[in-house]
Amino acid sequence: MATYFLATFGCQMNEHDSERIRGVLEEHGWSAASKADAADLLVYNTCAVRESAENRLRGRLGEASRRKKEQPASLVALGGCFAQSRGEKIFAELPFLDVAFGPQNIAELPSLLAAAASGSGPAYAFEDNQFPSAGLPTRRLDPFRAWVQVMTGCTNFCSYCVVPFVRGPERSRPAGDIITEVKRLAGEGVREVTLLGQNVNAYGLDLDPSSRLDFAGLLAQLDGIEGIKRIRFTTSHPKDLDRRLIEAIRDLPSVCEQLHLPVQSGSSFILGRMNRGYTREEYLEKVDQLYEAVPGLALTTDLIIGFPGEREEDFYRTTTLVRECRFDGAFTFAFSSRPGTDAAGLPGRVPEAAVKRRMREIVTLVQEIAAEKNSSLVGREMEVLVEGGSRHGGGQLRGRTRTNKIVNFTGKADPGMIVDVRIESATSTTLSGRR
Ligand code: SAM
Ligand code: SF4
Repeated sequence: MATYFLATFGCQMNEHDSERIRGVLEEHGWSAASKADAADLLVYNTCAVRESAENRLRGRLGEASRRKKEQPASLVALGGCFAQSRGEKIFAELPFLDVAFGPQNIAELPSLLAAAASGSGPAYAFEDNQFPSAGLPTRRLDPFRAWVQVMTGCTNFCSYCVVPFVRGPERSRPAGDIITEVKRLAGEGVREVTLLGQNVNAYGLDLDPSSRLDFAGLLAQLDGIEGIKRIRFTTSHPKDLDRRLIEAIRDLPSVCEQLHLPVQSGSSFILGRMNRGYTREEYLEKVDQLYEAVPGLALTTDLIIGFPGEREEDFYRTTTLVRECRFDGAFTFAFSSRPGTDAAGLPGRVPEAAVKRRMREIVTLVQEIAAEKNSSLVGREMEVLVEGGSRHGGGQLRGRTRTNKIVNFTGKADPGMIVDVRIESATSTTLSGRR
């Protein structure tokens, strides 16, 4: 049987697309190889959000080019956002490539591979298909937790971001399809679902008004599904976060007390240049409402440091916003100029030394606050969904709280069980305890 090796770069959306790539390949007779060396087919599911992702990919492509020289009959396929951003030109850039496909063309992968294997030259597909991936087989690596795509694409055009260019316009998947999928997953033993979209708070706005649900309405429908104990979702856009969603988090038992709400900057001036559609004050007001409605909420965010025009005072505003919001964690990214986006043409590039210093400062601050917040949980009993053995070994188990914090703990439990764990110590990123 022919074997494949798949490497994934980028976000959860790409991880989920990779589950479909595996599903589609395995349905067509391919089986997974544990190492790239041993595989007949190498697939790279790529990311183009930051230059660093592209650089990491280039590092890996050396292995593909070498393999192709040693074994000309092997195949190399490149999918995802980086492939889409290059289009057909990718074959001139990477001559050893056999197949290229966009994030919306996963279903075509087997036929593209067959065409390339027949010796008729490189094969590719980059069309913008309407809800292409719904209904594709998926091959999940986690038996108890699953991703469910509720939307595709993005139409927000934040000035720094390539996503709208590579994943097409924002489109919602019909609620009925989502509900059917979640019921099926529950039947397979899944206990936790994470609903995925670039801006889930805008779910349904593009659907027929006579029959549509908004995102809070969708959550209410999913909340009743037997077997599903936890519902998470990502990503929320602050401009579309409304009262109804806050109440859904407060009132629906399976919706977890956790929210990822990327702010990007604490300066309204920079937020305007980013085309984010909200001010610092509006963001802070929503965070106040969230903490008031949902005590114990874990709030995380994304921050971009060194956006063009970011002055010292703008960065200072980001630090004060981080203090006020008391985030449980933050992904901090140095601004990366992406060809074709509006921000690539903006004046005011921040010197690298200043970006580095600001990055260090913000990372330290985020860690301090996260460590304080986690220490306040010591002594509490928390509900943990068991994932398996702890990465630290030593017979410890690992799981996650409803607030999405990793817990390493001693005691007996099987993966998939939901147990109470007493928290005994904490760092900025993990909790430890005993059941
Ligand atoms: N749709 C989500 C949102 O609006 O929050 C995020 C999608 S994006 C794939 C994930 C994160 O990458 C963004 O929140 C942003 O912080 C970061 N990002 C996107 N483009 C970037 C760029 N050009 N430079 C640095 N960070 C970037
Ligand atoms: Fe990119 Fe903004 Fe869309 Fe998020 S909302 S995917 S940051 S354009």
